Amino acid sequence: MDLGRTLPPDVTDGLLDELVAFKARLDALLSVATDGMAVIDVDGTIARWNPAAATISGVSADRAVGSGLADIVASGAALDRAPIDGTPLAQTWTFGPAGRAPVRAQIVAIARDGVADGWLVSFGAQRRYDEIEQLKNELVGSISHELKTPLATIKAYAETLRDHALSPEEAHDYLDVVDEQADRLGRAIDDLLLVSRVEAGQLLKRREMLALDDVLDAALAAIAYDREAHPLVRETVGVEVSGDPDLLRDALAQVIDNAAKFSRAGEEVHVRAESRQDRCLVAIADRGIGIADEHLPYIFDRFYRADRALDSVSDGSGLGLFIASALVRAHGGTIEVRSETGRGSTFTLTFPVRG
Ligand code: ADP
Repeated sequence: MDLGRTLPPDVTDGLLDELVAFKARLDALLSVATDGMAVIDVDGTIARWNPAAATISGVSADRAVGSGLADIVASGAALDRAPIDGTPLAQTWTFGPAGRAPVRAQIVAIARDGVADGWLVSFGAQRRYDEIEQLKNELVGSISHELKTPLATIKAYAETLRDHALSPEEAHDYLDVVDEQADRLGRAIDDLLLVSRVEAGQLLKRREMLALDDVLDAALAAIAYDREAHPLVRETVGVEVSGDPDLLRDALAQVIDNAAKFSRAGEEVHVRAESRQDRCLVAIADRGIGIADEHLPYIFDRFYRADRALDSVSDGSGLGLFIASALVRAHGGTIEVRSETGRGSTFTLTFPVRG
């Protein structure tokens, strides 16, 4: 550094202090980053290689720093393709030895006077990008299925109503179906909106003391619970819960809807609640088809459906329990399931009474 000749010593000392502090912060940042980060000099020499870069590539910082990038990255690296205006460029890099998974690198050129003066690279495992891509595809597939099915029914029924001379009774029945399918469409859209709120971590906005009975009534109304098909046995009087009334309603609605959906007509659904010290416990039990052991660990996962064959007999996207568990966790609660194939399932939700 040649600052001493042109600037008074007190200024250079101040600048040096600032530089040292800046470098310490940069070092700290690079060491906590979970993505691999590298700084490459204009001649292609690696100047910085953070710990995540070492883990992901299998090349230690000692070996990487001072080496040419071409000696470390076996294939895929072409830094000079990165635009000079600083727009990131994505490339897939492979490190030797063969067999190590490729990484997805984002390269940004550091420009000085309109020419590249080095590059900043961040990279993560390709698998993560693949997973995100797959998740996106699943979501799009699930959205189109969930929205298209009721839409197609509504359209077909509306056309029949328009094109055929139906008796008033028949027309009434057709309009009932249209109404039902419009509700289903509305619920699918609500679910999808909830999922995006779950992803964004913006769930719980308010918390108040609520009578569980009221929350349960709202949940039953939201799913248009059919008491004739599934007699409801409830023991919920006097129990209180604290939380957001809409979100608690949605959590109970998802679980109760499943209890009915996966039981034969005539089978009861039990909802029992009790206050235990500072927790409120709600158990929702059905005597339906149950869930096999091998599926139990996954049923709260996004898009998971225990039996793909169900797709043809019951509507559902595999989002219900994912949403329910996110809502319960947002309240500081827990959700668990016990189940036996052919005998039924019990979902137990607990909530802290005071958040
Ligand atoms: P879906 O939209 O398919 O109902 P959920 O996330 O609500 O999705 O549930 C995931 C899967 O868990 C369901 O497809 C079903 O296989 C299983 N499941 C959930 N609740 C029950 C239940 N009460 N009885 C039997 N199986 C259930």
